[in-house]
Amino acid sequence: MRNVLKSPEELISCMSEYTDKLDPDLIKRAYVFALNKHGTQIRESGDPYFSHPLEVAEILINLKMDQETVIAGILHDTIEDTNTTLEEITEIFGKKISDIVNGVTKLSRFELSSIGGAQTENFKKLLISAASDIRVLVIKLADRLHNMRTLKYKKKKSKRQFIAKETLEIYAPLAERVGIVAIKDELQDIAFMELYPEIYKSIKPRLKKLYESSEETVIAISQKLSELAESIGIHCTITGRLKSPYSIWQKMNIRNISFEQLSDIMAFRIIVDTIPQCYQILGVIHRNYLVVPGRFRDYISTPKNNSYQSLHTSVIGPFNKRIEIQIRTKEMHLVAEYGIAAHWDYKSGNSSNKAKTKTDAMWLSNLVNILENTSGMDEFLANSKSEIVSDKVFCITPKGTIVSLPKGATVLDFAYSIHSDVGNHAVGAKINGVPVSLKSVIENGDQVEISTDQKSCPKQAWEGFVTTTKAKSALKKELNSLERERIEMIGKSNFDEFFSRHNIDVSESDMQNLATACKLDQINNLFYAIGSAEITMRELLDVYNKLKKTNIEISSDDEQIRKKNEKKTLPIIGVPNVPIMPVTCCTPVPGDRIMGILFQDRGVEIHIEECPIFSDQQSSSDARILSLTWDSDAFDSDAKYLARLSILVLHAAGNLAQVSEMIEKRGASILNLNIGEQSDNLVQIQIELEVKDISQLTMIMADLRSSEFVKKVTRI
Ligand code: MN
Repeated sequence: MRNVLKSPEELISCMSEYTDKLDPDLIKRAYVFALNKHGTQIRESGDPYFSHPLEVAEILINLKMDQETVIAGILHDTIEDTNTTLEEITEIFGKKISDIVNGVTKLSRFELSSIGGAQTENFKKLLISAASDIRVLVIKLADRLHNMRTLKYKKKKSKRQFIAKETLEIYAPLAERVGIVAIKDELQDIAFMELYPEIYKSIKPRLKKLYESSEETVIAISQKLSELAESIGIHCTITGRLKSPYSIWQKMNIRNISFEQLSDIMAFRIIVDTIPQCYQILGVIHRNYLVVPGRFRDYISTPKNNSYQSLHTSVIGPFNKRIEIQIRTKEMHLVAEYGIAAHWDYKSGNSSNKAKTKTDAMWLSNLVNILENTSGMDEFLANSKSEIVSDKVFCITPKGTIVSLPKGATVLDFAYSIHSDVGNHAVGAKINGVPVSLKSVIENGDQVEISTDQKSCPKQAWEGFVTTTKAKSALKKELNSLERERIEMIGKSNFDEFFSRHNIDVSESDMQNLATACKLDQINNLFYAIGSAEITMRELLDVYNKLKKTNIEISSDDEQIRKKNEKKTLPIIGVPNVPIMPVTCCTPVPGDRIMGILFQDRGVEIHIEECPIFSDQQSSSDARILSLTWDSDAFDSDAKYLARLSILVLHAAGNLAQVSEMIEKRGASILNLNIGEQSDNLVQIQIELEVKDISQLTMIMADLRSSEFVKKVTRI
């Protein structure tokens, strides 16, 4: 338990050692702001909560991160854990810092969701792609490091183990990937200690003994190596270190050797000024000591994916000790220690470090490159080589499941990815608690919530804003089955109306017999055939007469009834008692999805839902949108509705006649026919025709489309 917190002045003084881009006032404000916000909150360790962001900031300072990162580190838990809003942070600390804090907060939201198993891979990718600014990731690693340092204070063992496992599986590889070796080592060691306390306990004291007995040897070997370098006129810095318990345990595991056999626990690093000197030093070492075969690596000519450069070799060195040696330049060393952070443009006054003047954008693209290139020794992303990180977005359900979708996916795609039922009955959505439309595009880190209504159905227009194959096919399937239901409904209503007009009472078994006689096994199929005009009522009456041995004739009143119906109001539910105003933009026929626009004091316009005029009017202020449906009970099978088609036909004798024939064969009549523009061998025809409903029109259009000389058919 810590009692003394570092003061803002101390932070500033540490930072001034590596950067002059400092605004001490802003750092102090962040310090006081977070201190006040976290107030009396206490961590499980008993420390004041504020000690956590402060230590995170210190870790960031040790990594020599820039001021924006350090401040964001101080503020990183304010949104998640206090009443602070993002707007507040933007106002006081500016957009850049608030963006970083927002990024860290988003990642925390994902972290809270319980993950594991199949979710691990997704989570790793999510961390990377959600961290649009690499500094978000660095803060997250520092955050995790401090949480690991204080892991022992967590009371629940299962929780501790979960966090340790997650650290080993996700954060340590991530730290290695980004190249921050010190964080990787420490994360692994603490997790190791938590997960394998017995092994750790058995290795640690022996290691300690070995460390102690090796200490003098390390110094002596360093001395010998230094003399060797001087002998060829090179001055260098040599550091000797003992390997971490986790890496030693891994080695024992991988090579299946006992602790006693473990000889190379000493590693030396030789840092020189130039690349030629690296190879000169390597040469003199190899000439003087026995080389361990198979251990030499030249990462200078072939850098690792995370930009790491160095020469590696193992020799039986001074005092016959087996040692590992790394040889590199100062620049290479910076990259090795701080990873991508070394490229960050915050160290000024050192003109030799050109690599450090890279821009933010390059830095990020560098990371993406590293992550996409999965060859090499890194295990990270190894299981998902074909997946390119930047092609995906990751979002989360209210229950905490991570959902991965292709970039550009909409809220509706998300709904279908949960379940086709959720998609089909979606009526609204919220992203991060804010209501949005179903066509909104999802961004990384969004929390998405869908509201459904079992009575709601998908709309044709949805086809325009689903992108995933899964959503597309589920939507198509549902639309087809709805279409079928609608046609059946039209057929049933035609059937009922026709027979009741002829005073015939058709029983359920009669219906079944009619269906069978028409070679349709179910009544529904019979209704479908009627609705789609495959069977006319006249034909059906003939079948009925044969079946019942009756001789009923088509009512002679039919013509009059048709005329009467023309004057009747449209069979539509939801139209108020106001005049219906004619429209020229579209021609709704029964079965079309329709909407009404009610203009005060003037009347109502009825449009097809997809009509472009209609969507223009939607925004107009004096208009009220009405949801309308066709009234199947009021259908008259002989009522006719106007429809317009535009047809592009090959210009040849007889083609026009065939078009009219096809239309009339389906029982529709042509009212008007205009021959429009002709170009090359094509001619544009506009036809006004009378149909009884959408299914008849659809059949006509399908017939036309299937003929060889028709190039295009559209409704207008
Ligand atoms: Mn935190």
